[in-house]
Amino acid sequence: MPAADVARSASAMRTALIGHPMVRFDAPKLIGPVPQAGRMVETIEARGKHLEVMWDDGIVLDTHLKGRSEWHVYRKGSPWRRSWEQLRASIQTDDFVAVCFDAPMVETYRQPDRERHPGRGRLGPDLTKTADPSEAVDLLLSYPDREARLRDVLVDQHVMQGVGNVYRCEVLWAAELSPWAHIGDLTHHDALLIVSTAAKMLRVNHGRVRRATTQHTSGGLAVYGRCGQRCIRCHDTIESRPVGRTGRMLYWCPGCQVRLDRRLPPEVREMDPHPAAVKYLNELPWRSHDDH
Ligand SMILES: [Zn+2]
Repeated sequence: MPAADVARSASAMRTALIGHPMVRFDAPKLIGPVPQAGRMVETIEARGKHLEVMWDDGIVLDTHLKGRSEWHVYRKGSPWRRSWEQLRASIQTDDFVAVCFDAPMVETYRQPDRERHPGRGRLGPDLTKTADPSEAVDLLLSYPDREARLRDVLVDQHVMQGVGNVYRCEVLWAAELSPWAHIGDLTHHDALLIVSTAAKMLRVNHGRVRRATTQHTSGGLAVYGRCGQRCIRCHDTIESRPVGRTGRMLYWCPGCQVRLDRRLPPEVREMDPHPAAVKYLNELPWRSHDDH
């Protein structure tokens, strides 16, 4: 099921289920704790090809909608469009029933507190191990908080694992994206660019003590640790600032990392990429891959 259809299903389910006590739950092959009748559905989120339902007691149902898997919403008593034998989960209220058909994985868990345990919960793909960017791209494009800033989303391990503070700065510089861009403004092209660039940097540096993302600075990094020095692309001065709850230093170039900048007027948010960036991006290995 395409991610856009998962989002549509989530929206239909919200209308039918949220705010009404659940009267019955069924899931013949469920792995995990069973949601109890009488509980309320609080949130329903599409995360890439996953659809997650969360109840008020913190139980989360995660369904992976691969292939012909899908959720339907029916008024109580209406005939189903698919066979009950394909039922993998159903959530019933007084008026509606939402039914998940054919999902290969239906599992529940208790929601960890992301603020207190940022490494827990279902994590994104490990970019040091996978060559397929599509899952992380889907997770970026369906990030629940649409106003979240790129600088924060890039280090969220629920989207992709492996990107820490150094790579977040370097990836945003390579893609010429503003650290203050909102995730909701991101195009598919930009999401793919972020994931692919991060994956390349991680792979190239695997096993190295000294990380490098460019050959054009003495330290091997384009912006990280280079506050006050000249940007190798536009010669503006690199800035730094502590950000987030942990106060980790963000480094960026205000001269060329302006794409999707929410602090700028709309007419300058979309700029043509700098020639050096075009060259850099064209040399990425997955670009030449596409030509085969
Ligand atoms: Zn610059």
